[in-house]
Amino acid sequence: MAAAMRAARLHEPGQPLRIDTVEIPQPRSRDVLVQVKACGVIPNMNAIFGGRLWNHLPPLPASVGLDSAGVIVKIGSEVTDLAVGDRVYVNPWLTCGMCAYCRAGEPMLCSAAAFQGYFGFFPHSIRQLMDYPFGGFSEYITASPQRLVLLPQQVTFDQAARFGYLGTSFAAMRCAQVGGGSWIAINGITGTLGVGATLLALGLGATRILGFGRNRDVLAQLKALAPDRIEVLVLGDAPIADWMRQHTDQLGVDVFIDCSARGAVAANTAEALAALKRGGIAVNIGALTEPLAIQPIRFMTTRLQFRGSNWFTTGEGQLMAEMARVGVLDLSKLMTRAYPLAQVNDALAEVQTRPGGFVNIVVNPDR
Ligand SMILES: [Zn+2]
Repeated sequence: MAAAMRAARLHEPGQPLRIDTVEIPQPRSRDVLVQVKACGVIPNMNAIFGGRLWNHLPPLPASVGLDSAGVIVKIGSEVTDLAVGDRVYVNPWLTCGMCAYCRAGEPMLCSAAAFQGYFGFFPHSIRQLMDYPFGGFSEYITASPQRLVLLPQQVTFDQAARFGYLGTSFAAMRCAQVGGGSWIAINGITGTLGVGATLLALGLGATRILGFGRNRDVLAQLKALAPDRIEVLVLGDAPIADWMRQHTDQLGVDVFIDCSARGAVAANTAEALAALKRGGIAVNIGALTEPLAIQPIRFMTTRLQFRGSNWFTTGEGQLMAEMARVGVLDLSKLMTRAYPLAQVNDALAEVQTRPGGFVNIVVNPDR
C-alpha cells in the first residue's frame, strides 16, 4: 500500500476544499482502516464548511466528508469479528464514552458528540474529532468497529453513502412506532430526508403516506412509487390539515415526520400537527428554527407527542442494510451522480442547487 493518499481538506471556512497529499493513517489497535469508495454530499455541507452555523469545526486544515462507505483494508491487532475485505458503511457519530449519558448507555445523547469528518456539537467535542481525523473525501479513513454497518452485496457504496439521511428518517419512524398499516404524513417530502422517509415508510408497511412539498416534479415521482399508498400536496394548493383529514377518514395521521429545514416557516408544521390522530406522534428531524405555537391542552386531552430525533444508531443502520438486502427498502429509486475526488467542489456546488431528494450526490475518492 502506498504511504500517501489524497484528501480533500478545508483550510479556511468559506473557501473551496483543497486536494492535499497526506500520509495514510494507521489504525490503532482497536480500529480499522477503510478504503473509501463513496462519500455522500448533502445540502448542509456548504453552510457548515462556510463556518456560518453554530457547529464547531475540527482544527484546520481538516480532512472532511461525512457519510463514508468502503472496504476494510487493515484491522488493528485487537479487532475481532471484522475482516479485511468487509464492505462497510461508517457511521460518523462519535461519542466520548465517559459522560453521564454515555455511561447510562445513551450514546445518541452524548454531551461531547461529534460527526467524523464534519463537526463537533460542543466545544469539547474536538477530542473525538482528533481521535478520528479523516473524513470521507479522503482515500482512506480510520474508524472504530462499533460504528461499522456491514453492507450486503445488494447495497452499492454509492447508495450506502446516503445512509446518514436515510438513517435520520428511519430513527424518527422507529421512535414513532411506524409499522404495518400506519398512516403517516411527511412535511418536506421532496427533500433528501423526505424522500428517504418515504422509501422507508413503504418498507415498514405504512399504508397511507401523505406528503407535502413545493417541487411538483419530485412530488409526481413520489406519487408514482406507490400510487395507491402515497398522496401528495403542493404546498399552497389546499389547507394542509383539511387535506390530511380528507385522506385519513377525517381521523388524521398516526405519525407526522417534520423534515422542514432551517429557515422554513413553522406555519406548515403547526397545520400538520392539527391533523394528528388522537394518540399520534410527531417527530422533528429537519432543523426547523422558527418558534412554533402549540396548544398544550390539546396535547394533553388527545394524548399527542411532539419530539425530536437526531441521527441514528449503528444498529439502526444495520437494520436498513438488511431491509435493502431483500429490496423491502428499495434504494434503486435513488439517482446517483458521482464525482471523482478532484471535483469535490463541483459536487458541493451541485447540491447547493437543491436538485431534489431522489438525486444522490456522492464523491468517489478512489477515482
Ligand atoms: Zn458521551
